[in-house]
Amino acid sequence: MKPIVRFAPSPTGKLHVGNVRTALVNWLFAAREGGEFILRIDDTDTGRSTKAYEDGIKEDLSWLGMNWSSSFNQSDRFDIYDDAANNLREAGLLYACYETSEELDRQRKILRAQGKPPVYDRTGLSLTPEDKAKLEAEGRTPHWRFKLSGKTTSWDDMVRGTQNIDTSSLSDPVLIRGDGSYLYTLPSVVDDIDANITHIIRGEDHVTNSGAQIEIFEALGGAVPKFAHTPLLVGSDGKGLSKRLGSLSMDQLRAQGIEPLAICSLLAKIGTSDPVEARQSMAELVEEFAFSKIGRAPARFDEKELALVNARLLHETPYADVKDRLDALGVAGGEDFWLLVRANLDKLGDAAGWSTVIYAPMPGQIANEDADFCAKAAEMLTGNIDENTWGAWTSALKEATGRKGKTLFLPLRMALTGRQRGPSMDQILPLLGTERAKARLMGKAG
Ligand code: GLU
Repeated sequence: MKPIVRFAPSPTGKLHVGNVRTALVNWLFAAREGGEFILRIDDTDTGRSTKAYEDGIKEDLSWLGMNWSSSFNQSDRFDIYDDAANNLREAGLLYACYETSEELDRQRKILRAQGKPPVYDRTGLSLTPEDKAKLEAEGRTPHWRFKLSGKTTSWDDMVRGTQNIDTSSLSDPVLIRGDGSYLYTLPSVVDDIDANITHIIRGEDHVTNSGAQIEIFEALGGAVPKFAHTPLLVGSDGKGLSKRLGSLSMDQLRAQGIEPLAICSLLAKIGTSDPVEARQSMAELVEEFAFSKIGRAPARFDEKELALVNARLLHETPYADVKDRLDALGVAGGEDFWLLVRANLDKLGDAAGWSTVIYAPMPGQIANEDADFCAKAAEMLTGNIDENTWGAWTSALKEATGRKGKTLFLPLRMALTGRQRGPSMDQILPLLGTERAKARLMGKAG
């Protein structure tokens, strides 16, 4: 049976590295198994969800290379959730409660003070129709809780191994708020049943939810999917990322010039037994994906490591994969140019600087004490330049001037490129050509 998985973001904010990792694990697993990856937009919270966030999420997923076979919005399915809620009511598994949040807070405080777990006391379950009518006459509207069995729910988690949740230690979860709106818990199960989801893959902050949701699957007569709960991401300091996630959103990383494959390479590997390495395609990441490689310790996300992976990725990227973007950036130079400079880039945009060095009129940098030496070098640069020119020319210069090592090579590099470091000069020189090289050596904008 081919797996069917879903990524279910709430469009109440931007995609960040935390939820992208969840998306990626789902996507890689589906691709590895030849299954389906569905995008579900969890927009039951109509007050906080926006179309702009939804569009942004879709744009980011596409940019990252995670395509989906179908997508749907929970906000289109309220009638279906109403039917499911009615079924639960009829089965006596969804009951009305009338406490205000202040009253519930107070109850929890009292229980804690008594050293007891702050579990809801199920007052709602024992209300008679008269009690309810009286409460409603006071202006109260009910919220609705799912009646947990009080038994232990167990599953074999694909990351965490055997999990047991004692539902007697949990409050019956609220499925419908006082204003009639749905919390995520019930719609998620209804949708997972309707979409025949085979595997629910999400962050470990949902482990307790899973205990309750398994009972809702059973109550609605659905097949319970397999579960995988991945450890959360932490920063390089070991602390949670929640406060920094805003700056780790996909649009921010994109604006910084981070490549989508660098993000996917890093997020696919951190917290696993594989080394963190840049991969040139999603297909390689798919090939290497296995749940058995995901550890239980939090996965460390380090922006410095992301920058390194980004650079390493570019150093190996074939020209065909960047040609269009180089053209869009207005970077002059074709494949030869790319193969020459790519090992010197941290970001793709850095190629523009190298393109100026090689193809635009630009004065070199010549220190006063090197002016005569550079003029001599210009004089000795004759004829057509090819890859052997640099070696022969600098040997002749060494002979003629007595300079060697750094004092021989660095002034030439600075005069010709204006930079201390860069691609090998025997390859840069032919791209510059005789005239441009001579002009720069004489301190002119060549
Ligand atoms: N919208 C939920 C969230 O973002 C989905 C959780 C799930 O995958 O079930 O937390």
